[in-house]
Amino acid sequence: DKRLSNRVNAMATSATLAMAAKTRELKDQGEDIIGLSLGEPDFTVPDYIKDAAIQAIKDDFHSYTPVDGYGELKNAIIHKFKRDNNIEYKPSQIVVSTGAKQSLANLTMVLLNEGDEVLLPAPYWVSYADQCKVAGGVPIEIPTTIETDFKVTAEALEAAITPKTKMIIYSSPCNPSGSVYSKEELRKLADVLVKYPHVTVISDEIYEHINFSGGHASMAEFDDMYDRTVIVNGVSKAFSMTGWRIGYIGGPEWIARACNKMQGQVTSGANAIAQRAAITALENPPSKIKFMVDAFRERRELILGLLSDIDGFKINKPEGAFYVFPDISYFFGKTLRGKNINSASDFSLYLLEEAKVATVTGEAFGDPNCIRLSYAASESDIKEAILRIKEAVS
Ligand code: PLP
Repeated sequence: DKRLSNRVNAMATSATLAMAAKTRELKDQGEDIIGLSLGEPDFTVPDYIKDAAIQAIKDDFHSYTPVDGYGELKNAIIHKFKRDNNIEYKPSQIVVSTGAKQSLANLTMVLLNEGDEVLLPAPYWVSYADQCKVAGGVPIEIPTTIETDFKVTAEALEAAITPKTKMIIYSSPCNPSGSVYSKEELRKLADVLVKYPHVTVISDEIYEHINFSGGHASMAEFDDMYDRTVIVNGVSKAFSMTGWRIGYIGGPEWIARACNKMQGQVTSGANAIAQRAAITALENPPSKIKFMVDAFRERRELILGLLSDIDGFKINKPEGAFYVFPDISYFFGKTLRGKNINSASDFSLYLLEEAKVATVTGEAFGDPNCIRLSYAASESDIKEAILRIKEAVS
């Protein structure tokens, strides 16, 4: 549409949200679709967090909030970083936002100039590339493969760095691959990055607690990377609070100050009630949400077992988040029930139409050989969905 800005015309619609809309449309038409496309826990918010929100309403937390978040919430975040990550921050290094998505958007807006390059180890979360483009940046994908568990190597990272590289963005645990970088693996990447002080690291740790590998590590733990790393986190995934919209960053003060300034002109402070609830969520130990993590672990075993039975699906073992990311390139060039499959998008659409299962094409995540299935779904839905997929492709 010529009436719209070049900025928005150049942007892609979020593929995950587009799939969700298409699923809803088919469901409305009476189709029995199983949705494995959404990145959303299917639990409700734990009662102790709900109670904190109800109390906040009763206590009249109705006014505008400080742009960078309530002091008590910033303290709870500082406590969380110390407790879970052994990383120290001052209140001036923390900014609370309307979801980690806004935290990330703030960062691209305050750090990127026209033409600045942003390294994205692929597969990466859908919004990174488009947020960078809106801010004038140029996404540079660094491909990985299922053989290396979709993790970027130090050599590939170094080869991608140029004088124009402004930042690298990655998530660990990773959406969509479920890969988790160990401390040793991060150290190898850090050994490269210390040689290029013009590169800022954006470490998206929103799936921190949904980790089956036995430990979470962050680039900011290293003394020589602390001043150059921004951690993005939030309450959406760990506490099943996706709609409450609270995310946050911890990072260098000069970056936090800029995010505060940007946010002050765009949204102001995040929702008052959700912030009060987030204080309770973060002050309580992660053991309180272990039951959800345990359930995700069981579902991971279930879906991996079922998928390993399907010819043509190449899978690895995701160590975190709640996704599997099979390589389905085996089907490219083949015809299934009269339909030609030439890409991951064709395959994902085929599964929607023929198996009535919603997935997301890997193309949206910068990996054209894969599709993403979310196992944040009930066991019966997972079983039925994989059975349908198996029938549709054999
Ligand atoms: N980062 C990653 C890797 C995600 O998967 C998501 C949500 O899907 C977000 C950030 C955004 O989280 P929030 O709901 O806090 O905006």
